[in-house]
Amino acid sequence: MTTIQLPPAFEKQMIHLLGEEEYEEFRNAIDQEPRTSIRINPFKQFSLPGNTERIPWSVNGYFLEERPSFTLDPAFHAGAYYVQEASSMFIEHILRSHEIPKGLYLDLAAAPGGKSTLLASYLGADGFLVANEVIQARAQVLKENIIKWGLGNTLVSNNDPEHFEPLEGFFDLVLVDAPCSGEGMFRKDPQAREEWSPDHVNLCSLRQKRIMDKAGALVKAGGYLIYSTCTFNESENEEMIRFLTEEFSYEPVRIDLDPSWKIRETQTQTEEGIFYGYRFYPHRVAGEGFFITVLKRPEDAYSSEPGKTKEFKHPFLKAQSQRESQDLDSEIGLDGNGQYYMLNDSYFRIDSQWKAYFEKLSQHLSIRYFGVELGKKQKMDWIPSHEWALSILPKKGFLKFELNKEQALEFLRKNDLELSGLPLGWVMVTYQNLPLGWVKNLGNRVNNYYPKEWRIRLV
Ligand code: SAM
Repeated sequence: MTTIQLPPAFEKQMIHLLGEEEYEEFRNAIDQEPRTSIRINPFKQFSLPGNTERIPWSVNGYFLEERPSFTLDPAFHAGAYYVQEASSMFIEHILRSHEIPKGLYLDLAAAPGGKSTLLASYLGADGFLVANEVIQARAQVLKENIIKWGLGNTLVSNNDPEHFEPLEGFFDLVLVDAPCSGEGMFRKDPQAREEWSPDHVNLCSLRQKRIMDKAGALVKAGGYLIYSTCTFNESENEEMIRFLTEEFSYEPVRIDLDPSWKIRETQTQTEEGIFYGYRFYPHRVAGEGFFITVLKRPEDAYSSEPGKTKEFKHPFLKAQSQRESQDLDSEIGLDGNGQYYMLNDSYFRIDSQWKAYFEKLSQHLSIRYFGVELGKKQKMDWIPSHEWALSILPKKGFLKFELNKEQALEFLRKNDLELSGLPLGWVMVTYQNLPLGWVKNLGNRVNNYYPKEWRIRLV
């Protein structure tokens, strides 16, 4: 890897943080190749390739020996794993080691979805996640990744943090993985080095304060706020802890660390006591640069509940009755805990315990996706959606057909398929038993229903 000059002001800042000697180690580390790691989807079955190594602070994360072509691995498109650098997976350790209660979570700056898929996996059937992204095009990528992950416990929204104002005290946990100056990405993304300047750091810090000024109010009594960046400087990290403790009432949270992980704990003195942060330096851990802090809302803080919904009114969504929802659930092979909504003649399902929360959220947010879209019905027959195939919901009544790797890639390229022995009608195609999508065998030809905008172009 070629060495790119570092801005002198950045070097000065890092020497201030690390000292001259350790700075040299840091300097050498950012010219090394980053390690590739993946986090597996605990709700989909997937055989790990050989030569993997567990990421010590994560149950589902693994380092790979080398970086394969993920685009040419059908299991990647089936949502069996997510490619994520290792430091970010520390969130899994925070949630598990601190036994953070499951419930209604918000990921306020979520695209492309690395942290959202981690949160959704932790929550499973016992929680509901709002994955929000302010930039429209990025919200689209987020939606695609959430659909591939397939857990059905997530709503994707495309809103500015300001739009969340009516939802003060509503969430059990709010994560803000803030847009930042990206000093921790200098190794992975050399362009980040060229974009760096002290002015940019100041700009990022001001933007983060604007975001946190909204985010800090959204956590309910006893809930948690997690703030992270992929940068090292104190203005975007420790200064944010001070800002949060000045603006809101929060208590510190200290996370257990294994010294062998070499994560550096930082302590920030505030009027409210000492608060803790965790810094990941690339010369100490096998991950990218990262900072994270956890704060707890006191038990006497403000909380809001969705309240009793009368009749659900929404400009596009129509709620199905409890009876209709139970019938739909038993039709697809579930035990009747679903709540269904219709949007443009297509059915969407969420777990009914989140009905009141979802309906309140839908009054304030620009929803891009939620739960699982199952598709449309023609009389008694389903026209199943791609989203349903990728979800972990059962697909009672549909036939399956296993593809080999070449056939799976042809399906993902949306090419015509010739499959001997394929049954007639709608068939869910799988690769290593992982659902990839639908084909319809009409007898004289096979229609490939892979979404056009998702097709892979690599040959
Ligand atoms: N959490 C994501 C993940 O793990 O995949 C990465 C998030 S990235 C570090 C920060 C996100 O914040 C970007 O998607 C960016 O579009 C979004 N963002 C930019 N400006 C924002 C703002 N003013 N308010 C909220 N989010 C913003």
